[in-house]
Amino acid sequence: MKALLIYPKFPDTYWSFKHALSFLGKRAAQPPLGLMTVAALLPADWKKRLVDTNVERLTDADLAWADVALLSGMHVQREHLAEIVERCRARGLRTVVGGPIASSFPAEALKADHVVVGEAEDLVATLARDLEAGRARPVYEATERPAMSTSPLPDLSLIKMGRYSTMTVQYSRGCPFNCEFCDIIEIYGRKPRTKATEQVLAELDRLQQAGWRDSVFVVDDNFIGNKRRAKDLLTAMAEWGRAHGRPFRFITEASLNLADDPELMQSMKDAGFSAVFLGIETPDEASLVANHKMQNTKRDLLESVQTIQHYGIEVMGGFILGFDTDREDVFDRMVEFIQKSGIPVAMVGLLQAMPGTQLFRRLRSEGRILDAGDGDNTDCHLNFIPRMAPARLVAGYRSVMRRIYSHEAYYARVRLLLSRCRPAHTGHLTYANLRALATSIVRQGLLGRGRFSYWRFLLTAAIRYPRSFGVAMTLAVKGYHFQRMTERLLEQE
Ligand code: SF4
Repeated sequence: MKALLIYPKFPDTYWSFKHALSFLGKRAAQPPLGLMTVAALLPADWKKRLVDTNVERLTDADLAWADVALLSGMHVQREHLAEIVERCRARGLRTVVGGPIASSFPAEALKADHVVVGEAEDLVATLARDLEAGRARPVYEATERPAMSTSPLPDLSLIKMGRYSTMTVQYSRGCPFNCEFCDIIEIYGRKPRTKATEQVLAELDRLQQAGWRDSVFVVDDNFIGNKRRAKDLLTAMAEWGRAHGRPFRFITEASLNLADDPELMQSMKDAGFSAVFLGIETPDEASLVANHKMQNTKRDLLESVQTIQHYGIEVMGGFILGFDTDREDVFDRMVEFIQKSGIPVAMVGLLQAMPGTQLFRRLRSEGRILDAGDGDNTDCHLNFIPRMAPARLVAGYRSVMRRIYSHEAYYARVRLLLSRCRPAHTGHLTYANLRALATSIVRQGLLGRGRFSYWRFLLTAAIRYPRSFGVAMTLAVKGYHFQRMTERLLEQE
């Protein structure tokens, strides 16, 4: 059998980093790790091809070559996924859809020949056998969540590694918390499941052998969901790093209670973690309680962020507007909080009720759901009726984005971060970094509207934080993406 694994396009959002990636000569941030894992689960004698439409074209020749097309994606990729399924159907090519999107929508809505609901590890062998025998069922649904020990080494050979800015590994799935709007706990559960340390180190070995020398995103739902196991892994990763010349800078996602554990933060620093994404959501305690985000309550949020930054770990933050408890002053409070936090990468979005979540179920019972949402919380689409007047909410959201991504406000946050956060790992000087520096000087320093702020920022960084200059440059380039996206958002007003 010839299997064509296809990854649909992501729309251009704050998350895509598209405008920053062009500085590096890269086409996408991360490869499709899920499909690379599925490829490794398929029978060894199958021929496999992977087309990530974020970095290459899906050609008619690819479709003509295949016996079956396997697609995976997230909610936000739904539109392009539907187009590809349609294209395959028109050619008579059998389609299988899996991944998080298959858990969020009824199987018939995806219009594929076969839908795989749940995690792939326990399902792919049966699906492959049935496809070969010509008796595959319309739906394959996992009855249990598989142990991570059954997850194979993702097939790196299928991707064009040089087109991505970051490689990925996954250590755990699931999160012990219970945030009302979260779909992760619905799909992957509240009991964190982890890979064995040896599995993770084997993935790092494989990346290093393939020549990778840059960032590696540990794409867990919550890396510290099981703190004890995370500490064991971090000890092994630090040893591995020392033995291999510290080839990678790690990034991950975690919960804010990381700030309560000095040993864990020190272990992350020693293992080479340079940044962590945290769901902070809102500075409003009442909203946090209402959303069951209890791990963020009864604490000084700014102090927690600063504690993590002092370990040399940049904090990236997720923020949400549109909670039922939001009051008129929430927009000003959000801007004030973000500016004081020293969080340059502040992903502020409007609340969307994702299908399958507790929030979706509650709003549906209250008759407030409008549609299934599009998975992009930055495009001003509201899929439910908010308590605040929708026009006021959207206008307030736009005003927050305008204020936090003005050149001055953004660089002020980066300067604050640099003053607190001495990086443990400054990264490697690569061709892509040099290219980004040259492009940044031309686009931001010579042609950009914020060039005076840019030069003032770079000079301050070079004089006061020379050891962090690489971090400063990286954040300047990311700032270009956020500023372009914000210009586009404001043009839609
Ligand atoms: S901490 Fe994050 S992953 Fe965990 S339940 Fe809350 S939103 Fe979901």
